[in-house]
This record gives sequence, C-alpha cells and structure tokens, in this order.
Amino acid sequence: MTTVLGSIADDFTGATDLAGLLARSGVRVSLHIGVPDAPPQETAAFEVIALKCRTAPVAEAVAETRAALAWLRAAGAERFFWKYCSTFDSTPEGNIGPVAEALMQDLGVEQTIYCPAFPENGRAIFMGNLFVGRDPLAESPMKDHPLTPMRDSNLMRLLTPQVTRPVGLADRLTVAKGPEALRAELQRLKREGVAHVIVDAVANDDLGVIAEACRDMRLMTGGSAVAMPLPALYLADGTLSAQAGAAEHPRFDPAGVVLSGSCSAMTRAQVAAYQAQGAPSCKLDPLTLAAEGPGAALAWLAGQDLARCPLIYATAEPAEVRRAQEELGTAKAGVIVEEALAACAIAARDAGASRFVVAGGETSGAVTKALGVARLDIGPEIAPGVPWTYCTSAGRRLAVTLKSGNFGAETFFAEALSKLEAA
Ligand code: ADP
Repeated sequence: MTTVLGSIADDFTGATDLAGLLARSGVRVSLHIGVPDAPPQETAAFEVIALKCRTAPVAEAVAETRAALAWLRAAGAERFFWKYCSTFDSTPEGNIGPVAEALMQDLGVEQTIYCPAFPENGRAIFMGNLFVGRDPLAESPMKDHPLTPMRDSNLMRLLTPQVTRPVGLADRLTVAKGPEALRAELQRLKREGVAHVIVDAVANDDLGVIAEACRDMRLMTGGSAVAMPLPALYLADGTLSAQAGAAEHPRFDPAGVVLSGSCSAMTRAQVAAYQAQGAPSCKLDPLTLAAEGPGAALAWLAGQDLARCPLIYATAEPAEVRRAQEELGTAKAGVIVEEALAACAIAARDAGASRFVVAGGETSGAVTKALGVARLDIGPEIAPGVPWTYCTSAGRRLAVTLKSGNFGAETFFAEALSKLEAA
C-alpha cells in the first residue's frame, strides 16, 4: 500500500501519541523505532518514524530527520508531518525550527505551518501564545523542565531564533472564518515571504479547519492533534481508499505486567491507584539496584501470577528521586532503573506475559529496545494520545502500551488492561 502521509516524530511517546490519533480513523498505522535499515516493504497508509532527537545537537537532529524523510519518500509518501511536543519543547537553537527548514529545503516548499495545540490535553494557542490548561506556557510546570525549560509563551518569539526565514501568525480570528479564509491568509503571508506560520487553535473545531486548509501542503508541522482530522479528509476525497488496510485487532491471553519508570505526578497517582485496587506490586530502589542488581525484583516476578498483571515500579516522590540522583548521579540513577525494568520486561515475556503496560518516555525506549522491537502496529486508544500497540518479540505477538509521564487518568493501568479485553 502506498503511504499517504509520512510522519516523523522527535521522540518516542510523541510518535505513539500521533500514531494513536491517526489510528482513530480505523486505518492501518505503522510505527518504526528509528529509521528502518531496510527499504520500505508492505507499508501502511500512515507511516510514522519515531526518532529521539528532541534535545540532540542540531546537526544530528537534521541528519536523522532527513534520513527519515528519504525513507518515507521511498515508501511513496507525498505529504509529510513533522511532529514535536504540544508544549513546543525546544531550546533557542532548536530542534523544531532547524529540522522544519531542512525538510522544507529537501521537499522544495516555501511555507509550512506550526500548530502544537492539543485541546483535549489542555494545550491551546491564542494570538500565537501557547497555554497549558489556563496557564501561559512560561507559567506552567514546563518552565522548570530539566532539558528544555520554556520561559516564553509566545511561539513566534520562540521559533524566530531557530530559523533563518520570517515567522508569522494566522490567528484565531482567521481560523474562525474557516478553511478558505485560512488558505487565503497563508497565501497572503507567502507573498510577503513568511515561510513559517504559527496557527492559532483553541478547540478541536479549529484543528478541523486547519487540517482542511493545509491538507495538501507537502509539509505540515505540529503536535499530534492537528494531524488527527487528516485520515477522514483523505478518505472523503478518495486520496485514501476505504480498503486502506483496516487495523488488526488480535486477542491476547491475560498474562501481563505493568512496568513504571516514570516519576511524573500523574504516574505517581496511577501507581497508587493500581495498588489501591489490590494489584501485586514490587518497588525498585535505585540504590539497592546499584549495589545488588535486579535479582530481587526478578525473583519476586518469578513468583507472581502474571494473570494478575503485577506492577514493578521505580516511581517515587521528587525528594526520593533527588536522594538517589545525589548518591548515584542523575544519568546513572536513570540508567540503572531503565536496565532493571528492561530485564523485568524480558523475564516477563519469557514467562509468558503478552501484555505490557509501560509508563515513562525513556523507560518505554529502554523496554522496547530490550524486547527487540523495531516496529509497532497501532491498536485501540486507551486515553488521548496513548494507544495499545502490537509488536513481535522473540517470535511472539505482544500488546504493548507506552505512556509518557503525564498522560492518562489515575486509573490508566487498569483501564488499559480492560480496554484490551474489549477490543
Ligand atoms: P517521564 O515520561 O515521566 O518523563 P521517563 O521514563 O522518560 O518518564 O523518565 C524517568 C527517568 O527517571 C528514567 O530515566 C528513569 O529510569 C528514572 N527514574 C525512575 N525512577 C527513579 C528513581 N526512583 N530515582 C531516580 N531516577 C529514577
């Protein structure tokens, strides 16, 4: 099947988020972890390549996304989407702008749009300013992010130092007038030489207008939500045929495991809620892991009934995380925990688990790597931006869900497992 839309995401859980929203249409979506080594074969209508380049050096991010673009072009795609975080996570150097300019150059396009809005998750853009819930971005918890602290809420000001060509705005008043008005405004801005256009969106309806106006742009950029209306638009006009390969819905036996390496506030609540409903659980302590390795956790796991989907977690309160980081160093503490959870994932798989609920972006990368997974097919959505995915590991089909820190409701773990039964 020729690929209709080729997407490149700057991190892993961002890619599953985008893939999940595209899969809402029922069309087959395939996700690759990194640029595949082999040329495209049996591609899906929607192909997503997950990179890990959000905070990589600019030249590296540009080279990787160019390679991803080349692969997607070889898959037959003529339209492309550059997906970054709905909080526009980037530094004054990039990588959102430099990558967009490199892709524009390779595709020979003069203009693209930037729309990180995701209203269902409380991300809205008004007059070029990004809001997280009711707070401007720079007053949200993102102001203290360890790698990409966001200290300005104005997307034009954030993007300008990242690009070489002019930045402009198509504001909500234009979007509210509909796709024709937005298209005309983009044309007007193009005549003025504006290559990079921030587009306001405060509600899902705005995203529909933007997707309709921009559906035939060769390159769109944004959070995942602005891509969500595209499958229906492509189906309606025949760009995508109704037989575009409906998504599979395989069955899995109940054996599973929940692995949590995220310490985000929402994950802490999810761990507590899952324990409160009686799930068996085992806590990993980075200091013990550093001294003794993951043996105790593996022994605990070996004694569990996997049909009850036991929880193994390193999730801890900030003070506890800080203590481990001070003792071991931040990077080492993270790696020790990731390696232990990866070892638990392999042990659970080898003991027969076929359902894996994984919490944490970095943790998800470590677990999929350990399971030897390079490609995921997207299944039903559990929460906005978090789908079940299906993959093959050691010759067996597994269901895996990869949740970044703050996604999902408190009951996410149990909800995820019951959703798979209903699918
Ligand atoms: P999120 O999506 O919430 O950011 P990640 O998995 O991306 O979650 O990042 C969490 C990081 O914190 C991982 O590297 C993980 O190994 C590390 N970590 C988890 N628990 C602890 C802990 N108790 N002490 C120190 N680091 C931890």
